[in-house]
Amino acid sequence: MCGIVGYIGKRDAYPILIEGLSALEYRGYDSAGIALVHGKGFSIFKDKGKVDHLKEITKKISAGGCGTGIAHTRWATHGAPSQMNAHPHLDQSSKIAVVHNGIIENFSLLKQKMIKDGVKFCSETDSEVLAQLIGKYYNGDLASAVRRALQDIEGTFGIAVVAADNPGVLIGARRGSPLVVGVGEDELFLASDASAIVRHTKKVIYLKDNNMIELMQGTFNTTTIDNKKVNPEIQNIDWDADSLAKGGFNHFMLKEIFEQPETIQNAIRGRLLVDEGAARLDGLNLVLQELRSIQRLIFVACGTSWHAALVGKYMIEDMAGIPVEVEYASEFRYRNPIIGPNTLVFVISQSGETADTLAALREAAHKGATVLGICNVVGSSIARETHGGVYLHAGPEIGVASTKAFTSQLTVLSLLTLLLGRMRRISHSDGVTVARALEAIPKQVQKILKQNNHIEEIAKTYAKHNNFLYLGRSYNFPVALEGALKLKEISYVHAEGYPAAEMKHGPIALIDKDMPSVVLAIKDSIYDKVISNIQEVNARGGSVIAIANEGDKEIEKYVKHVVYIPKTIPMLSPLLSVIPLQLLAYHIAAIRGCEIDQPRNLAKSVTVE
Ligand code: GLU
Repeated sequence: MCGIVGYIGKRDAYPILIEGLSALEYRGYDSAGIALVHGKGFSIFKDKGKVDHLKEITKKISAGGCGTGIAHTRWATHGAPSQMNAHPHLDQSSKIAVVHNGIIENFSLLKQKMIKDGVKFCSETDSEVLAQLIGKYYNGDLASAVRRALQDIEGTFGIAVVAADNPGVLIGARRGSPLVVGVGEDELFLASDASAIVRHTKKVIYLKDNNMIELMQGTFNTTTIDNKKVNPEIQNIDWDADSLAKGGFNHFMLKEIFEQPETIQNAIRGRLLVDEGAARLDGLNLVLQELRSIQRLIFVACGTSWHAALVGKYMIEDMAGIPVEVEYASEFRYRNPIIGPNTLVFVISQSGETADTLAALREAAHKGATVLGICNVVGSSIARETHGGVYLHAGPEIGVASTKAFTSQLTVLSLLTLLLGRMRRISHSDGVTVARALEAIPKQVQKILKQNNHIEEIAKTYAKHNNFLYLGRSYNFPVALEGALKLKEISYVHAEGYPAAEMKHGPIALIDKDMPSVVLAIKDSIYDKVISNIQEVNARGGSVIAIANEGDKEIEKYVKHVVYIPKTIPMLSPLLSVIPLQLLAYHIAAIRGCEIDQPRNLAKSVTVE
């Protein structure tokens, strides 16, 4: 999820690696580290904190003369940010150094097995398992040892590996996490994204999934992980460093919107049991009996996370039959809430540092509640102070307006629904239906993203309007709130989200030709009621942009514009219906020339109350 840089060549590796890490800083990270290969061992420096801190602690080393090395910026997924958990990781005899992006799903099993065999681990990371495995298989041939170790691994990885006794080789391999190789004159570079190496060479190879590359002095060998020869394509990159950092997108927000098929997949990975129609969330640290005895849930959050919580309430009440209250953290903390027995409190926050949510957590804990967290940042205050929880694994979110974290929160809440529901109202076959539908979501999101240009055209029609109404019912009412919030946040256009039927109780007075309505008209049990609401808008001269299901031709009779989305089960529809709303907000803001990634007056992590 975070940054990798590797170098092998005639120059000193140290400044190249450090510079490369600096170029990757924009991604957000919590620790940094570097390993240089001497031939008789490694020089390893790593710590939590910034690349500048790494520079500081390496200031006194004599790094000259080392032409091979690897470096990393970590964004923790397993184990809090700390010196020990920072990468590179070594095997127990310090023969092998590894930097890793991604998640090793079966690390716990592998680690237990190796501990039984007497292997000593010194970090809490999943990544160290890889170093230990490669060390176990290494007998002078690094490529074979890496290949063998990767056979044991489940999960995602982008890795760079070096051996202490052989400065002449550097291995890169990937599954799920990107890796790019830079081809220079008598030197080779490896990086998780090209912005780390673009100042040295424009000639690159984008390593394909399940491929491996052996970099040697001035030459390289590309294969699949299971050792079939691959002929790599060398491409010339003509992007500048800034657009490279954003993956070719104009803004981080757009990049993050487009990452959602992958981030949703990351939230599902290792947690969905399709054949059993169930889910596992081991991080909750609750035994079966505790989960069964829950009688009430309270979700506490702010902003976008609060909208995710509201979808969670609809899901859990509908499918698991447990009453759920959704509270604004800022209200909860000061209003002396009642927390009865068998009540679980979930606090939801992307950063895990939201001040009001953290205070609400402490208040709930003070009242004796078991408090669990749903957050993205490992080792954050919320992660540390809760009894357990679920990480989103969405990777750093840089755009201030949350997009991918929202859909990851919805994914985790669907898994929670499945977990709690299967102990109560959901049958095996219904569970399988939910699990299959969830499994299909990443591809369906991909399909919606293909309509980016169509949504941009709609945005052009409405970009000058100063007021919008967003309407939805049932599962899509919280999505209407979220769509309106996105537009407000980044385009500074006034927008209101409402349950569609509530419109008659006030906001309908605002509707005229200058106030468009975005209506979530999903084919569910109350579709016809939504159509009636659309008619009511039409009757007042308002225009409607509908988000509807593929195949729904009838809707075109009633509305000016439609964005079609694939069909899924009702509880998962927010995961799809929110995507066009994110894109609509983005394009309206872009056309209006707004500062999209850092909107005025807003902060990414609201650490003040
Ligand atoms: N899962 C690894 C860790 O927590 C890698 C994190 C990353 O991708 O930066 O250390």
